[in-house]
Amino acid sequence: MRFETVLTAEADSTASEHLLQHYRRDKRQEDLCFALWRPSTGQLRRAALIDEIILPKKGERLLHGNASFEPAYLARAMKIARDKKVGLAFMHSHPSDGWQGMSATDVEAERDVLAYPAGATDLPLVGLTIGTDGYWSARFWEREDRQMRRHWCEKVRVVGPQSYKFFFNDNSAPPPLRREILRRTFDTWGREAQNTISRLNVGIVGLGSVGCIVAEAMARIGIAQVTLIDPDKVEEHNLDRLLYGTVHDIGQLKVDLAARAMQRNATAESIQITPLPVSVHNSTAYKAALDCDLLFSCVDRPVARDVLNYLAHAHLIPVIDGGIAVETDRRKDSLFSAHWRAHIVTPYHQCLRCNKQYNSSMVVMELDGSLDDPSYINNLPPEERVGNQNVFPFSLGVAGMEVNLMLRYLLAEEWWPLVRQQDYQFVTAETRIINDECHPHCSFRQRRAQGDAENPPYLEEEHKEPPQSIWRGIWRNIVKVFDRIFWRS
Ligand SMILES: [Zn+2]
Ligand SMILES: [Zn+2]
Repeated sequence: MRFETVLTAEADSTASEHLLQHYRRDKRQEDLCFALWRPSTGQLRRAALIDEIILPKKGERLLHGNASFEPAYLARAMKIARDKKVGLAFMHSHPSDGWQGMSATDVEAERDVLAYPAGATDLPLVGLTIGTDGYWSARFWEREDRQMRRHWCEKVRVVGPQSYKFFFNDNSAPPPLRREILRRTFDTWGREAQNTISRLNVGIVGLGSVGCIVAEAMARIGIAQVTLIDPDKVEEHNLDRLLYGTVHDIGQLKVDLAARAMQRNATAESIQITPLPVSVHNSTAYKAALDCDLLFSCVDRPVARDVLNYLAHAHLIPVIDGGIAVETDRRKDSLFSAHWRAHIVTPYHQCLRCNKQYNSSMVVMELDGSLDDPSYINNLPPEERVGNQNVFPFSLGVAGMEVNLMLRYLLAEEWWPLVRQQDYQFVTAETRIINDECHPHCSFRQRRAQGDAENPPYLEEEHKEPPQSIWRGIWRNIVKVFDRIFWRS
């Protein structure tokens, strides 16, 4: 298992303002506080999601160069954690920069004083230290036999509205060497940015025309860990758009095709690719997606988009989604209009459902098979029929927009303007910035940072029979009613 801690931007700013307040006034004084965390469990990674900080009240902690807490503060924090059924985290500050180790007193405080009582939450204690430069370091304390074992996190991530910050533990995830093959990349955005980019674990959901171009961009910029998710095989009608596909590849899995090409074109010293030929709502793929730091949504199916919406909001894994809409004038047999767009999805950005990339009825209809039923499709009003027409240059446009939106989110500290979504109109050659927000009653707002407590209800176990059709029908109607009341109103 790998370990990791993720903070929301508010948790990061509340905690760092409190913990670093003395250093910022030039006083050499540490500070401390408690926080709550929720688990997000993937295939190989266990993450602690932190969205709530419990600041000390007057008299709850003592400052004497170091800092210590009164039992009443711990008791109060524990009560909140147990009432909410979440884990306890302990945070303190150090008077130096970067990833912090632990002093003997730190180990004593976390292992001997806090880890056992924190176990009453049924979740291990998570300890965090912040350096004067705001750099986080973190570890889990897990009970193994009769001892408390420390597991250092590989990194700490902070998901924000404007930028996505990473704090790596160089001992477990060493930064890449500057090699000739990536010289121009290093020179473009600098070593610090490349140190982050090369250590990301990126997932690509959908390896069609857009996904393969995104995959190629990831291979070229030095990404070393990639997960590829797509159940489809290459068909002849894909070949006018599929970057890696040739007539010899017809019938092969798209993920295998992309994995082979990425292996060949990678600029990272070594690249680790996990190809998964299943849908993202299959539990194996879903767990693998939970191991990623960032996901590309290169799919046009409602269920996949709904799953990605959960991952972005509940599990704090930013999603970059994109789409193309082409309208052809059938009478004149010519292109009428085309536009493509890309969006960042996190709790700070509009969700994919509010953004009208799908709706809940479509999710239900895809799950029970009616979305692929020709009689259903023929009965749809023309504006709701999904057009499949597309060409390679349009895919190039949307893939480029998605990748550059990802880079901007990683590199932009305080760049202006804020860009959450972009839309390019082919006819007028205009790019618009759209920063719309979720509907005030959007259910994804409540799922923010809830982790394992909020997974999609329809995940498929790998070898399970689908549910009985009668139940599917009932469920479908419930969701439809719900959709109408809460969603479209
Ligand atoms: Zn310390
Ligand atoms: Zn929403």
